[in-house]
Amino acid sequence: MFKIAVIPGDGIGTEVTSQAVRILKKASRILNEQIDFVDLKAGGIAIDTFGKPLPEQTLSTALACDAVLLGAVGGPKWDNLPYELKPEQALLGLRKSLELYANIRPAIMFDALTASSSLKPDIVKGIDMVVVRELTGGIYFGRPAGILEEDGIRRGVNTMTYSEPEIERITHTAFKLAKSRNKHVTSVDKANILHTSMLWREIVNKVAKENYSDVRLDHMYVDNASMQLIRNPKQFDVILTENMFGDILSDEASMLTGSIGMLPSASIGGKHALYEPVHGSAPDIAGRGLANPVASILSAAMLLEYSIKQKELARKIFQAAEKVLNEGYRTADIATDGTTRLTTEQMGEKIEAAI
Ligand code: NAD
Repeated sequence: MFKIAVIPGDGIGTEVTSQAVRILKKASRILNEQIDFVDLKAGGIAIDTFGKPLPEQTLSTALACDAVLLGAVGGPKWDNLPYELKPEQALLGLRKSLELYANIRPAIMFDALTASSSLKPDIVKGIDMVVVRELTGGIYFGRPAGILEEDGIRRGVNTMTYSEPEIERITHTAFKLAKSRNKHVTSVDKANILHTSMLWREIVNKVAKENYSDVRLDHMYVDNASMQLIRNPKQFDVILTENMFGDILSDEASMLTGSIGMLPSASIGGKHALYEPVHGSAPDIAGRGLANPVASILSAAMLLEYSIKQKELARKIFQAAEKVLNEGYRTADIATDGTTRLTTEQMGEKIEAAI
């Protein structure tokens, strides 16, 4: 028996997660394996119910489950709360407590969606890259951090810090992934300016030389990388980068593929794993059946591949999503002339039927 902690969160998080659960229930029937789902609250809804974004019960249950499926958290209702009470603290708390140091974000261009990208079709057709983002270090976690006051003058402070072991383990994750793909890693840093990046580059070179002579390694400064992603995205196979650079570059990569509603992610570490779409809670479209559930459904497919070791079934789910898109079905974010508009739920039903 396999136990999944389901944390739908806020806004469209609840809408897309129910479609991902639909697909996992179908997977359970196909595999003839029992999968139990435990519903948990985190983010804004947990603040409203329990007064905090990450209640102890949510965290302890998530720690005891075999995997976590997350929707998205946040929304304008909670934007003005103090820092420790903001819904996004639930994400940082889960990542740190579950030791999810590697965030794996594939960006794949489905042929049917080349017209939905904001770039020219010949630039985006065939994009197939993965961003491997370090998730528990860097400027989001470094101390000191806060708004400090000295002599009546306030100063916002964040600290970017990386240790050798932190860099080593994420480098191994990226290179192992590259070995199963096109054997090319681009490590993105800012080693011309930042000390953390100088150490990053030194350690990435060392790990690569000692362990992965069959994988090509390039280095790129983050400002250049953000430009190259738009200029020639197909030059990338695996992008390895630190927390904040990865946050920004993976959103940029997502738009190449047509919509942020298409991008899944897996966050892995030692013992635990969490799967979630790359997008947020999209308050502007929440509650109207407009959300694209594909990112969440493909996150469920990644759960099947990485945590339940069902690579073949994961591939079938990916192919089912592709088939539905090829047949011309679209949610609002990727709709173009001549395609058939579906709601979030109808899209989930179509993909379930196509598996
Ligand atoms: P967002 O990703 O929620 O939305 C950005 C834009 O993309 C919006 O126009 C939205 O309508 C659209 N969009 C996003 N997902 C979509 C989908 N599945 N289908 C169709 N369109 C989609 O980012 P934001 O607006 O910057 O943030 C909104 C809230 O979400 C904030 O509170 C933010 O902190 C939070 N957030 C949470 C996470 C997370 O839980 N992992 C990630 C990012 C942002």
